[in-house]
This record gives sequence, structure tokens and C-alpha cells, in this order.
Amino acid sequence: MQRSNLNKYLGVIGGGQLGKMIGLAAANLGIKSCFYDPDPDAPAKNISTLFFNEKYDNKIKLLEFANKCDFITYEFENIPMDCLKAVRKKKKIYPGIKALQISQDRHLEKSFITNLGIKVVKYENIKNFYDIENFLKKNTKKGILKTRKLGYDGKGQVRIELSNLQKINFHIKPNNYIIEELVRFKKEISVIAIREKNGRIKTFEPSENYHKHGILRKTIFPASISKNCASKAKKIAEKIIDSLDIVGILAIEMFVLKDEDIIVNEIAPRPHNSGHWTIDGCNLSQFDVLVRTIYNMPIPKIIYKRKCKMINLLGENFNEYKKYLSKKNHRVYIYGKTKIKKERKMGHVNIID
Ligand code: ADP
Ligand code: MG
Repeated sequence: MQRSNLNKYLGVIGGGQLGKMIGLAAANLGIKSCFYDPDPDAPAKNISTLFFNEKYDNKIKLLEFANKCDFITYEFENIPMDCLKAVRKKKKIYPGIKALQISQDRHLEKSFITNLGIKVVKYENIKNFYDIENFLKKNTKKGILKTRKLGYDGKGQVRIELSNLQKINFHIKPNNYIIEELVRFKKEISVIAIREKNGRIKTFEPSENYHKHGILRKTIFPASISKNCASKAKKIAEKIIDSLDIVGILAIEMFVLKDEDIIVNEIAPRPHNSGHWTIDGCNLSQFDVLVRTIYNMPIPKIIYKRKCKMINLLGENFNEYKKYLSKKNHRVYIYGKTKIKKERKMGHVNIID
């Protein structure tokens, strides 16, 4: 009997909804997952046989975790670098550490993308309060102040203008913030790019995203943009993923301007909320593709089965899922979080055509 030398687990750092969906995709390919998350109620626990409920700075446990796994992946960007470095000594980490390092810091991310010859919003690294004032005076009356690190779902951001600078009632630590021009975009879109171990690159078609308070509410596939704009978006995504030594997937968030010019907002080397439509819209989901690339399995042509609209079920509208359950074209996904909170992502529903 043939025995594979890869018969352990796919290690997943972070056991939230993304980790859980990675684990489900892995299970469909006969691959077990082992999760590492300090939260004892992490959603992935519901589907795992091996779960390390430990802190991210516990190097001994991290190494124990790595020893159990064939490869390591992660579901969020803000993993402490020390933690990754400990794990990296034992096992390969995908989609990749370089991409992760860049996406952890908005300043680094924007300068990296700019250096590729791709447009980003007008922005500046902030050293003190006067940098903010000067940026607004020089460029735009309205801007967004963002923490360089650890922001997500609109957290760590404040919209400001010259007339309300008093909103900044906190200490500005030098090199901890950037300021961006507030972009009047026509649409927000995202592209999920794929890079295999052999370097071959593919992308999913762009989807269209709607945010409120910085949190994704709805994604529509396909995005209602011209063919030319979609092809421009995919080319940008290909160029970025190719420059980052990635094996796996990279989500690229973009703003489409009035003239269909595109600027990149941010990147995430992991599955992305705006890619959940792929579960019901395509032959392979973003999660299937991630697991396949990690295990060097074939990625056939992406087939689009249907149009799809994804709606996030946040704490405040979570109960709506009960009415969606009885609709024949609504596919409901509940993450299994124990505490319901306003604006917390509790599940999503894919409405198919
Ligand atoms: P996060 O890491 O929280 O997703 P983003 O930078 O993507 O941070 O911001 C969240 C959302 O806020 C964006 O998807 C977009 O809707 C809005 N936003 C962010 N930056 C800008 C900007 N410079 N101009 C206009 N809207 C913005
Ligand atoms: Mg974002």
C-alpha cells in the first residue's frame, strides 16, 4: 500500500470563520486541519479534531502545533511576526511571509504597490499632528487617518477634515499612522488572485463590494464594470501577486474611479470576505483553491456557474438568517460564534441566480 509522506494536518493559525471554511475545503480533499487560536470559542473548533487553544506568543505550543502539520496557513494578517518566525523554523507557511509583512503595514503596503507602478490613493506617513493639517491643506479637505498596523473592518480609522481636526483627541505617535485622501470612487471591487507552486497565475473575475462604516455588507458577482476595466483589474492583481512569492491566494481591494481608472486600496494574502460568493458561484471556491495550491494539486480553469450576491449577517441583522433558510435560492452559512455583537460577522448568505 502506498503511503503519503504528507499525512498529518494542514495547520491553520486563527480559527475564525475563514479558518473554519479553509478547514471545510481541506476536509473535502481528505485533508485534516489543525487550528491554533487563543479563543476557546473559535468557530473552527466546531469542525476540528485537533485544536490548540493557546496564545500567539507561546513559542513552545507553536512549535508543537507546527510539528503536527504538513504546511501552515493563516486566516488573518495581524499575526505577530515572532509567532510566524517560530513556526517557519519547522514548516512552510503559505500564502507567504513577505506578503504578510507588507500587508501588515499600510505604509509599507502602499509604497510597495507604488513601486510596482500601480496607483494607490494619495497618502502620507504621519509623524505629528501638523503633518495631518498640512496634508489636508495641500491635497484635499477630507481625509482618513488610519493606523498603519492592526486595523480591520474599518477599525483604527477616523474620517477627518480641516474643520474638525479636534476629532484627533489622541496622541499621534510618530510613524504609527498614515493619512489618505478621501476617494470619491464610483465602485469598490476586489479580485482574488491565485499563484501555484509552479508560478502559474490565475485570477477570479472581479466582484463588486459595498461597505458601511468600513465593514463589508454586500458583494455582487459579477461586478458591473466594463470588460476593459475588469481586465485592467485582473492585470493589476496578477502583477501584485507575482511580485510577492505567494503560493496560494491574494485578495486585492480596489477603487474604480469615474473614468474607470483603478487604484489599489489594500491587499490581503488570505481568503477574503468579498470572495465568499465563490463557494456557490464557481466550480472551485477561494478556500478550495488555497488548499489545492498549498498541497500542489491541480487548479483547473475557473468556471462561473451563476451570478451571485453575498450578504454578510452581522450581529444586528443576524436573525434574518431564519427567514433566508426557507428560500430556495439562499445558501446560508452560520459561523457558530457564541457571542452576538453589533457589526460582528456572524455568518453570510449567498443568493444565487
Ligand atoms: P480595513 O483594513 O478596515 O478593511 P480599508 O482601508 O479597506 O481598511 O477601509 C475600509 C473601507 O473604508 C474601504 O473598503 C472603503 O469603503 C473605505 N475607505 C477606506 N479608505 C478610503 C479612502 N481613502 N477613501 C474612501 N473610502 C475609503
Ligand atoms: Mg479593506
